[in-house]
Amino acid sequence: MTISQEELDAQALATLRRYFGYEDFRPGQGALIHAILEGRDVLGVMPTGSGKSLCYQIPSLLLHGLTIVISPLISLMKDQVDGANEIGIPAAFINGSQSIDEQEDVFAAVNAGRVRLLYVAPERLETQRFMNFATHADIALVAVDEAHCVSQWGQDFRSSYLGIGDFINALPDRPTVAAFTATATERVRRDIISMLGLRDPEVVVTGFDRTNLYFDILKLGTRDKANWIARYVADHADESGIIYCATRKQTEELAETINTLVPQLRAASDAATPSPSPIAVAYHAGLPPAQRERAQRDFVTDAVPLVVATNAFGMGIDKSNVRYVIHHNMPESIEAYYQEAGRAGRDGEPSRCTLLWNESDIVTRRRLLDNGGANERLTEDEQEQVRRWKRHLLDAMVGYCRTTACLHRYMTRYFGEDGDTASGAHCVGGCVNCDSTFSTTDVSRVARTISRCVHDLAQSYGSGKIVAVLRGSQAKDVLERGLDHVPTFGALADVPQSTVRDVLNQMVSDGFLTITEGRLPIVMFGARAAETIDPAFHYEMKSISRPKPAASQRPSSPTTE
Ligand code: ADP
Repeated sequence: MTISQEELDAQALATLRRYFGYEDFRPGQGALIHAILEGRDVLGVMPTGSGKSLCYQIPSLLLHGLTIVISPLISLMKDQVDGANEIGIPAAFINGSQSIDEQEDVFAAVNAGRVRLLYVAPERLETQRFMNFATHADIALVAVDEAHCVSQWGQDFRSSYLGIGDFINALPDRPTVAAFTATATERVRRDIISMLGLRDPEVVVTGFDRTNLYFDILKLGTRDKANWIARYVADHADESGIIYCATRKQTEELAETINTLVPQLRAASDAATPSPSPIAVAYHAGLPPAQRERAQRDFVTDAVPLVVATNAFGMGIDKSNVRYVIHHNMPESIEAYYQEAGRAGRDGEPSRCTLLWNESDIVTRRRLLDNGGANERLTEDEQEQVRRWKRHLLDAMVGYCRTTACLHRYMTRYFGEDGDTASGAHCVGGCVNCDSTFSTTDVSRVARTISRCVHDLAQSYGSGKIVAVLRGSQAKDVLERGLDHVPTFGALADVPQSTVRDVLNQMVSDGFLTITEGRLPIVMFGARAAETIDPAFHYEMKSISRPKPAASQRPSSPTTE
């Protein structure tokens, strides 16, 4: 007897209510589950926290046969399996942390029909033992979590993901394949479809506009960042937060600074409640596993309100009441930023995402990218292509830091959602740009002079030297190279160094200049360079008159610093 699609949809909804206790599907879930139950491959591109797991968990209960979930993070598998079992979905996992006997026990449980949902690390798929099991099992659905890991063009490429397509092809009866990710630009989407061999998939992309998030950007000197963060944490000591840092060392140092400074700040401000102790724990991949697990557990159970982490933290962490995410450094791409910042406010309550950045973040990111580890599976040419693509991702991230437009809209456009933000023409969650006024300064002379200096220096020096020459620096290496004889030497001695640097950087973003990648970045002319010699050339720099770095969640009206 065949069941009609209406009946299947009704069963899916009944399963949602019975097992999960939720009244209705969220956007995208219904369509994805419908397609899977119909036997169609799917690609679900939905932001973190939007409920992707349910899209394979519900089919696992309704399909005849096993659902295999391929998931990259072994450390989270146990939690996922415990969570599923708790609500009555018979689940188990197979990964490298188990002994052979333990793995055999799981296979036996699956064969006896006692498991509907089996989580597997991608590395396992390549083992003979798993393949033997899989070829004899009745597999209805293969769900690939964090599917963007299959793409070289994404952030989190994992070579073990390359074997998934072959694994699926080697199965005697091809199951339905469902891929899920929170971060996929057009390019990555295409890669997922081709690398996993999805057949005419139903592609569902849902609301990237998280209307409960307030986006804030703040340009701060490296030293000021820690103080700003401590102040913010002191003002929000009873809220849960995540701070992302670029390096392991930074996470430890910053956690220590917070644990020292915040109690002092709170004592000084007569805070009504004492600070929890400790306030912050560090988390990174270099910590011993036990310490890492403890940090994660303490944070998830609200024993400590704050985790200071590298990007190793967070994939798959289900903590809904994170009220703020602060980035201590600029991430390498909008995808990475959106995924990490998106861990705030999963419960739909207003939450704040603050990005602290400065010019040296950009330099560091460029350097990391150019000296990044080689991928031995790729040819030299392909590696250069990947590098070029990553530079492009980084440029979009820099664009986010510099834009004066609505940050919600910047983000949704980036992810390929056309038009306005989810809620119409204005920025519902709020962002600092929409809350700010901007003042513009005419910097035409500065820009024109910078351009002339680049010419004088024969497009052979980096930005530091250019600024030094323009400001008439008497530094030894300027004089030794005879740079004090070029016509533009000292031509901007009357302009503050920081302004010269900011204008130069803005000229790079706007395409008048470009910075070559490499160990010693050199400033050269960009595509629009010729415009600067036009007598009518007019150039403005926008600076933000922003609300004060807010102690309150949502600044009510912009004030000038
Ligand atoms: P993702 O994998 O997309 O990051 P999860 O699957 O972990 O998100 O879901 C995030 C949270 O949303 C979980 O707590 C989950 O139980 C909840 N959730 C999922 N679907 C629904 C729904 N239809 N109604 C209410 N809550 C939901």
